[in-house]
Amino acid sequence: MRKSKKLVIPVMVALCLAVSPASAAWAESVVVAGGVRQQTGPGVAPGAGEEEQGQTAGESVAEPGEAGEPLLMPEQAPGEPVSEPGEPAAGSGELIAGPKEPSQAEETGQASQGQETQVLVAGQGSVWMSEEARRAAEEEAARQAEEAARLAAEQEAARLAAEEEAARQAEEAARLAAEEEARRQAEEAARLASGRVIDPSRPMVALTYDDGPQSSVGNRIMDCLAQYGGKATFFMVGERVPSHQAEVCRMVAEGHEVANHSMNHKYLQKQGAAEIQAQVNRCNDVIESVTGVRPTIMRLPGGGYNSTVLANTHMPMIQWNIDTLDWKTRNASQTVNAVLGKVKDGDIVLMHELYGATADASMEIIPELARRGYQLVTVSEMAAAKGYKLEPGKLYSSFR
Ligand code: ZN
Repeated sequence: MRKSKKLVIPVMVALCLAVSPASAAWAESVVVAGGVRQQTGPGVAPGAGEEEQGQTAGESVAEPGEAGEPLLMPEQAPGEPVSEPGEPAAGSGELIAGPKEPSQAEETGQASQGQETQVLVAGQGSVWMSEEARRAAEEEAARQAEEAARLAAEQEAARLAAEEEAARQAEEAARLAAEEEARRQAEEAARLASGRVIDPSRPMVALTYDDGPQSSVGNRIMDCLAQYGGKATFFMVGERVPSHQAEVCRMVAEGHEVANHSMNHKYLQKQGAAEIQAQVNRCNDVIESVTGVRPTIMRLPGGGYNSTVLANTHMPMIQWNIDTLDWKTRNASQTVNAVLGKVKDGDIVLMHELYGATADASMEIIPELARRGYQLVTVSEMAAAKGYKLEPGKLYSSFR
């Protein structure tokens, strides 16, 4: 037992020193509490609490009428730091400790003009200050504490709002990602169902043939495409369709795109609104009546347009960015060079179905593009693979 008693004091001292920098202030307040503690005015009753006896006459802690109101901060519990990090106004005159108990003066309502109180001030230790200064310091401390609490509440509200916004954004991103994934899976399922798989990460090109149908040329082109798994787009003149029904039906059966090139190949920029609409609609009607498929894209005869044309076709209008001029040269090697010399991923190549030289050129162009790794796709396939949504009244010349 004796042995353990001897250990008590060193341990407590060590604890006091170890608490924090604030423990020094606490230790100071303990000293005050156990020592001078508080000055009181005359008339202190013998044995009044822990107050120091033998005060100078005329000194008093409090003014009349304050009986029972603590003048100083409540006594610190042993071991409790006087102030915590981040508390405002350390050393700014804020009262951080200062034992005060009701004095005799307070209890008796005795006047206490000009009296001073000993208080503990952060950074200054135990100091004497007038009652007026002490109350001002208390009010300032209360004001600062209120301000600090208000700022802390504001910061907390801002933090919560930021967290909420971050959570909302993460949710939105997850929702968009899920939508994108669902769309991708649906596209993939559609491709697999049609037996056709287009890899958007590999290069592709859309070969287009205008002014048909023309069976003697179109069938040769389709024969070649079939060997390489390629598809093409045929922009057809409606009035020619009834004479080449088998060929047009083959286009659909083999996965090529049947498309509109007006009913009579009239230059639409020279037509009025009603005739433009008739040229487009009649061509769609005849292709649909023969194949069961209604075209969803068109090519303007000669590529010509004006604002009336744009406003009245009511279909996406597909131009081109590689012009072979095959109709002009009627020369296979020049057509081949026009394509192979400059073709790039996303290009739309313009050729014409009417000429044997164009079929000859296609016999070279198709194998070479396949050898270079190009996917030969229809215009609508390429737009979809490249993420374009084709819109009525708009012009498209490539999907690079
Ligand atoms: Zn044409």
